[in-house]
Amino acid sequence: MSQKQKIHILGGGPAGLSVGYYGKKKGKSISIHESSKYIGGNCRTIQIGDYRFDTGAHRFHDKISDVTNEIKQLMGDHLVEVHAPSKIYFNGKMIDFPLNFQSVIKSLELSKILKILFENAFNVFKYQSNYENFEKLAYAKYGKTLSDLFLINYTEKLWGTEAKRLQTTISGDRLKHLSIYTVIFEMILKNFKSKHLEGAFYYPKFGYGTIFDKMANYIGFENIKLDSKVVRIIHDGNKIKEIEYENSNSSQVEYVINTLPITSIIKMMEPLPSDSLLQKAKSFKFRNLKLCILTLDIPFVSKNASIYFPEKSNPITRIYEPKNRSHHMAPEDKTSLVIEIPFTLGDNIDCMNDDEIIDMVKSTLTKKKLFKGSDVIDSKLFNIKNAYPILEIGQEKELRMLIDYLQSFKNHQLIGRNVEFKYLHTHHIIWKARMLIENLES
Ligand SMILES: Cc1cc2nc3c(=O)[nH]c(=O)nc-3n(C[C@H](O)[C@H](O)[C@H](O)COP(=O)(O)OP(=O)(O)OC[C@H]3O[C@@H](n4cnc5c(N)ncnc54)[C@H](O)[C@@H]3O)c2cc1C
Repeated sequence: MSQKQKIHILGGGPAGLSVGYYGKKKGKSISIHESSKYIGGNCRTIQIGDYRFDTGAHRFHDKISDVTNEIKQLMGDHLVEVHAPSKIYFNGKMIDFPLNFQSVIKSLELSKILKILFENAFNVFKYQSNYENFEKLAYAKYGKTLSDLFLINYTEKLWGTEAKRLQTTISGDRLKHLSIYTVIFEMILKNFKSKHLEGAFYYPKFGYGTIFDKMANYIGFENIKLDSKVVRIIHDGNKIKEIEYENSNSSQVEYVINTLPITSIIKMMEPLPSDSLLQKAKSFKFRNLKLCILTLDIPFVSKNASIYFPEKSNPITRIYEPKNRSHHMAPEDKTSLVIEIPFTLGDNIDCMNDDEIIDMVKSTLTKKKLFKGSDVIDSKLFNIKNAYPILEIGQEKELRMLIDYLQSFKNHQLIGRNVEFKYLHTHHIIWKARMLIENLES
């Protein structure tokens, strides 16, 4: 593309804003179109009174040094390194997350511990680099007993799908480092802790969303159109020609970078693709989240970054306490909790009204003695749409066909969690955005 051509970016979440940010840095003309009233997608920080909380992402992982340095530069002294452990709540006890053998041993009876050791001893000889599905990966890494207790049930609750139907990549990086070797290492060296157990990450003082607020400021709000829902993408079979918005505006386009859900993009194409592609797109599903916010009249609930709940009988997957990331997130003598409850349209959670969900959350967490009912000051419920793309086994080929079709338009590129249909973290997305802009130049 030429330097003079304008880039239309569809979606104002982390992917759209990162592309806009790097594009602006290279002097490109940018126009971002976001359907909602806010930028940030699943990475917003909302302020209610004296409390702030994140709607999605709440850990910046230092995995790609160029990206970390870019974000450090962007945020200045607002980006702080946080050291806070995460835990798994199991039978009234807190176990280290990611799993740590010493911690597990304290909460299980001897017969289970022996079984876990036996299973893992044999796993050493069965190691392979590729596993067919998440269940097989978990069994190979931890053995059946440990996996069934802490991983399989949690995973199936989060994704709403059997672990044997899920791709191994849904674990992100979390299962990569812990093996029987680290377990043995821990037993020999009591205080040994590998890097992933330390609970270190970066976090902005005033919430995760401020990373993307800063990017939006740099891009300039005059280049970001809110309330600008894309409804139609008009093409001539070779190039994208025009984008139509719900507010009945439209733009003639030269170059388009698309971050919208792949399931929606396919239906927006005009002319439509083949029936077979439309049918394939229908099989791709997202898991949604109810986010329950409780403000509490106590200075803290725990010192943990997050607490995970593996048991299936409890619909909550995870809670986090924003104040443990930055003291600016709640008043000194009070705290708040963000509680995640995954759901699929039409399931039991989806059929409950907001009050019923809030009551369920309060009663579950007070029974676990994390706080008392009388500590609750206020509660709110938010819906997070398209929180997780569900990566099922056997969908890779069909996804490739959809992506190949959409990228066959010469002036159309795809980026982001919803369109790539991958478990991407923000540091990955920021890196991909930088690469995408650099490749446009070459
Ligand atoms: C609960 C949760 C916790 C997470 N924790 C972390 C974490 O700790 N660290 C981390 O790095 N990542 C984390 N992530 C992942 C991170 O949130 C995603 O990687 C990131 O939000 C993906 O950005 P995106 O722009 O691809 O998609 P999104 O964030 O979904 O943004 C897409 C944007 O497109 C807009 N849009 C949709 N349809 C249209 C349309 N028709 N027209 C115009 N605009 C449209 C949406 O409104 C939205 O603003 C977490 C995610 C979730 C859900």
